[in-house]
Amino acid sequence: MTATRTALAWEYSPAPEATDHIRLKDRYGLFVGGGWRDAEAYEPTINPATEEPLAEIAHAGTAEVDAAVAAAREALPRWQRLPALERGKYVFRIARLIQERARELAIVESLDGGKPIRESRDVDVPLAAAHFFYYAGWADKLRYGLAGREVGPMGVVGQIVPWNFPLLMAAWKLAPALACGNTAVLKPAETTPLTALLLAEICQEAELPDGVVNIIPGDGSTGAALVRHPDIDKIAFTGSTGVGKDIQAATAGRDIGLTLELGGKSANIVFDDAAVDQAVEGIVNGIFFNQGHVCCAGSRLLLQESVAEEVVEKLWRRMGLLRVGDPLDKNTDVGAINSAEQLQRIEALVDAGEREGATRRTVACTLPERGYWFPPTLFTDVAPAHRIAVEEIFGPVVSVLTFRTQAEAIEKANASAYGLAAGVWTDKGSRALAVARGLKAGVVWQNTYNQFDPASPFGGYKESGFGREGGAAGLRPYVRLT
Ligand code: NDP
Repeated sequence: MTATRTALAWEYSPAPEATDHIRLKDRYGLFVGGGWRDAEAYEPTINPATEEPLAEIAHAGTAEVDAAVAAAREALPRWQRLPALERGKYVFRIARLIQERARELAIVESLDGGKPIRESRDVDVPLAAAHFFYYAGWADKLRYGLAGREVGPMGVVGQIVPWNFPLLMAAWKLAPALACGNTAVLKPAETTPLTALLLAEICQEAELPDGVVNIIPGDGSTGAALVRHPDIDKIAFTGSTGVGKDIQAATAGRDIGLTLELGGKSANIVFDDAAVDQAVEGIVNGIFFNQGHVCCAGSRLLLQESVAEEVVEKLWRRMGLLRVGDPLDKNTDVGAINSAEQLQRIEALVDAGEREGATRRTVACTLPERGYWFPPTLFTDVAPAHRIAVEEIFGPVVSVLTFRTQAEAIEKANASAYGLAAGVWTDKGSRALAVARGLKAGVVWQNTYNQFDPASPFGGYKESGFGREGGAAGLRPYVRLT
């Protein structure tokens, strides 16, 4: 059964972010050894809100991956020998330059990825700068952060980032790697390479020594070549569990560091003593932030039976107020789906939800004619075995399940192959702590959701991967201790 609600017609005047000051190049090459190189092949990157090409982007093949790894290897001894305080200054400079170019980076992130400008401006870009600031501070304190032991870098690190937080994921990976004295080869996602390439420009502006950071756009085959390169000392990957497993198999038996930050199907648990209106805002932020393209999205909403009806009705009403459309409009809450492929995946899972008997409600809003869009959607009457309760949808779709007792809430929340994050909504601190202890999730938020801080480690259990990014724990994968 499908129900729809027409978005309430709140009259907002359009508030588009100006783009006339953005100067994208027609074509971006590979950033290798501190300079730009031509590639054998180029592919356009598309604005998912308009389907218009934004620029031609180099596609790194095997020989180009080799060149990038060789440049990183050559740069390593000098970078490693640099006094830690000096390394920290470079990392700090990158943070300052991100701040200086914040507006441009936010606009390009929204153009290339489809996320609302409000989010790229207020979350992605400031957090990316914050990560560089945070790890700049660690560069000369590694011995203290790591139990007083002698600390050396892993060496040349290969880093593969996804399309949902392109600049932020690059920052999560590069900032600790550089602070610890590693050199890096970073591969951005095929659909969102632009802010990583602007970050390459920032590395040049910061006068980072040549070859310390190399950025090579491409597709899955580029990532696969990087993973299999024999001269890589560590791989850091964020993306799907399927590719994560492939990487784990490809690196098995090699003396190589590996961290995998993979998918999730995170439970957002609302108890009957929670402040319901506040919880509804948290549920909305948990699932509709970045169109639900969030590995820790609160996509499984677990409601205590006694408040389930009230929460669902309030949530449904609130969903009708979400403004879906132009990512560059400052009033937009839900932007474009990142790619045609991702839209197809969302549609297939939503169809499966209906076929399996769940009740679908989708906000009926006027969507732009071009581009990739999916309106906010809520499923009730969801059984734990339904695909929409089990699989990562990675879109603006929330599945509601119910529970009666605290023990049942914990059991249902943990009944997932994933274990990335969870939310607990309750008035009682003791209950929040008890539930958090019972949850097999890397991050548990209480009475809030999707809060990030560079000092706070992030990562998963089970099929959500292993290793932590952020905080002092995020240094550990980038160092060898002696
Ligand atoms: P992928 O795991 O394919 O992409 C993540 C990154 O890995 C991209 O840079 C990608 O390159 C690269 N890559 C792809 N194949 C390989 C490979 N064999 N070896 C090394 N690197 C590779 O995710 P998708 O983009 O296909 O998204 C599929 C699903 O994954 C989504 O629907 C979502 O459920 C989940 N996902 C989870 C993310 C998370 O943060 N946990 C992030 C992104 C997706 P390229 O993009 O150029 O192909």
